[in-house]
Amino acid sequence: MIPFDHASLTVAHDEANAFEAVVPPIVQTSLFTFATYDEMLATYRGEKVRPVYSRGLNPTVRQFEEMLAKLEGGEDALAFASGMAAISSTVLSFVSPGERIVAVRHVYPDAFRLFGTILRRLQIEVDYVDGTDPEAVARALPGAKLFYMESPTSWVMETHDVAALAALARQAGAVSVIDNSWASPVFQQPLSLGVDLVLHSASKYLGGHSDVVAGVVTGARGLIDRIRSEAVPYLGGKMAPFDAWLLIRGLRTLPIRMKAHEAAGLEIARRLQALDVVERVDHPGLANRLPAGLSGTSGLFSFVFRDGVDIRAFADTLTLFKLGVSWGGHESLIVPAEIVLQQKAEPNSAQAFGIHPHSVRLHVGLEGTEALWGDLETAIAAACP
Ligand SMILES: *Cc1c(COP(=O)(O)O)cnc(C)c1O
Repeated sequence: MIPFDHASLTVAHDEANAFEAVVPPIVQTSLFTFATYDEMLATYRGEKVRPVYSRGLNPTVRQFEEMLAKLEGGEDALAFASGMAAISSTVLSFVSPGERIVAVRHVYPDAFRLFGTILRRLQIEVDYVDGTDPEAVARALPGAKLFYMESPTSWVMETHDVAALAALARQAGAVSVIDNSWASPVFQQPLSLGVDLVLHSASKYLGGHSDVVAGVVTGARGLIDRIRSEAVPYLGGKMAPFDAWLLIRGLRTLPIRMKAHEAAGLEIARRLQALDVVERVDHPGLANRLPAGLSGTSGLFSFVFRDGVDIRAFADTLTLFKLGVSWGGHESLIVPAEIVLQQKAEPNSAQAFGIHPHSVRLHVGLEGTEALWGDLETAIAAACP
């Protein structure tokens, strides 16, 4: 495990342009002008690298990309307008019609829908495997171009031996990709475990304040260059400068936020597990030991109520925990599976993955463990007549 590199959270000064401001300025511009014909010509010929248009290179976005690459141990990174733009641009850079992807089951619902709609129309087939079973993964991989992972997985929180699965993908000649949004580089650095590309929904912990939707991918230069050459300019899902500025600010407190989410999340998971009305808590930190490569846990997990609990009353009695999607910010949130199972989107991942109808997903925020536990106790009492 590579120790977390706190020094990477420092942004280099640009004395000429930034007055030595401790916070970097936002370069909020769409285009950059050239002083001379020759400078423009040299840039177009590729003899000089400098910003031309912000869909390509923007200095504020570039600062965020460089910070994130350092934190994950990547050679380079690319930032996108959303996590889904990072996922779609990355996947489409490595597969073509007629080719195959292997994915672990229980991936992020909209990634599942991307695979089941647009990729299916492009005749790119996605086979789902049980990531906890390396033999099943090894059987599925031959012939696949890309292996898509999450650990832990969305909602059901299955954890995998990431290094072992990445090694299997490498043997099979498949590019391995992992969505590391849950653990963040504070708790898991998949490139050091042999994964080729690491994706994030930066909307979650990297931003950390629920005020930005963004994504990023990092890895070896050759792979990142492939995404940069076509998917970035032509699919065009580029991150905006202001969002990059918010993310640079968010990253600086990432290590202390993650430790606070971990402590509060684990304590609440343990207390829930001790309750009679709770059938099961799916939190990777409740196992005897964490899987290899994962050094800590975040604030997102799920639990299953026993039959007969009024989940509507539970949700409507909570005051600190709000009903809402996403996660990773200051605030605590819940999502009841009962509601998600009725979502109209097709394909519906909650149904496809057999998400338990009495489960609730919880994001434990930074309001304080005792206040949050009091909120849960009151709501559980109201839900169990
Ligand atoms: C939210 C999320 C995404 C999608 O990111 P957006 O920024 O919302 O597009 C991808 N993966 C995981 C695990 C997520 O939670």
